[in-house]
Amino acid sequence: MKLWEHYHTPTTVDEALSLLAQYAGRARIIAGGTDLLVEMRAGEHEPHHALIDITRIAELTTIARDGEQITIGAGVTHTQIVHSALLQQRAACLVESCGVVGGPQVRNVATLGGNVAHALPAGDGTVSLVALGAEAEAVIGGERRWHPIQALYLGPGKSLLNPARDVLLRFRLAACGPREGTAFDRIMRPQGVALPILGCAVRVRLTADGTRFERAQLCIAPLGPTPERLLELEVFLVGKTADEVSLRSVIDLAQSSLHPRASKYRASAEYRREMIGVLLERTLTRAVERARAASVDPR
Ligand SMILES: Cc1cc2nc3c(=O)[nH]c(=O)nc-3n(C[C@H](O)[C@H](O)[C@H](O)COP(=O)(O)OP(=O)(O)OC[C@H]3O[C@@H](n4cnc5c(N)ncnc54)[C@H](O)[C@@H]3O)c2cc1C
Repeated sequence: MKLWEHYHTPTTVDEALSLLAQYAGRARIIAGGTDLLVEMRAGEHEPHHALIDITRIAELTTIARDGEQITIGAGVTHTQIVHSALLQQRAACLVESCGVVGGPQVRNVATLGGNVAHALPAGDGTVSLVALGAEAEAVIGGERRWHPIQALYLGPGKSLLNPARDVLLRFRLAACGPREGTAFDRIMRPQGVALPILGCAVRVRLTADGTRFERAQLCIAPLGPTPERLLELEVFLVGKTADEVSLRSVIDLAQSSLHPRASKYRASAEYRREMIGVLLERTLTRAVERARAASVDPR
């Protein structure tokens, strides 16, 4: 059985939207296809009359800087992100998370937008975008506007976006400035494909003398059906010394206050709780080192 009848490669967002409208629910957006085609082959979708490929739309495939904002098109591949000097310098956690997605063949075609639109809370790109405080621009129900990234997540695999009608366009985030550092790490089975046991991304800003946390943004996932910032831990860290003692206390707080779920395929809740400590130690230590190294504005 054919999985689709028509394959379109629009070169503008308007063209993609008008194709979706024309097919009235019988077409679907495709980017790299590394999630969608696997699901279609597994029979998880009714055959689509048409696939609308957004990867030829120039404005969706660029990484750009506008002052202190970085924008990343939804059709930008993980490989593009890994090779971006701007992101390496100003959003290192995103480079680290996109750098572990699948293998090189997957990263060469799979997109950041597809990672987010697929709406799994543990998507590697997702975890870093949430910690970075990113926003997403999308045309949803005909309205083009910016949304906080978490607003797109309604549950595991459930997105605010309807890919038979809507298009995710791009992300924006504040570039890391002086005294800021970020880091991402994950725990993955050695033969694991697709999703990790647990991922963690952090963004910190230190005080002018480099000794205390002025600000902290953290995301560990999956802890629940949608990816969330860890506000209790973020508030706890502000004003604390950026050292081993605070690291131990924030890990204790995380392990007593967070309740990861057991997963039949990935790990027990106990193992995940233990790994929360490992990931926080690795990422916070690295982010603090980077923040100290960025004591002057890297512009
Ligand atoms: C072997 C293998 C290993 C993998 N390893 C990892 C991993 O380590 N970590 C990880 O997080 N993921 C992993 N994945 C999953 C996948 O590669 C990523 O989620 C990837 O980022 C999806 O992007 P894509 O462009 O291929 O999305 P697609 O498959 O093209 O699309 C995914 C979904 O999003 C919708 N969509 C895509 N773009 C848009 C848009 N612009 N607007 C609206 N809707 C859109 C599609 O309709 C579809 O529902 C793996 C997959 C494979 C096959």
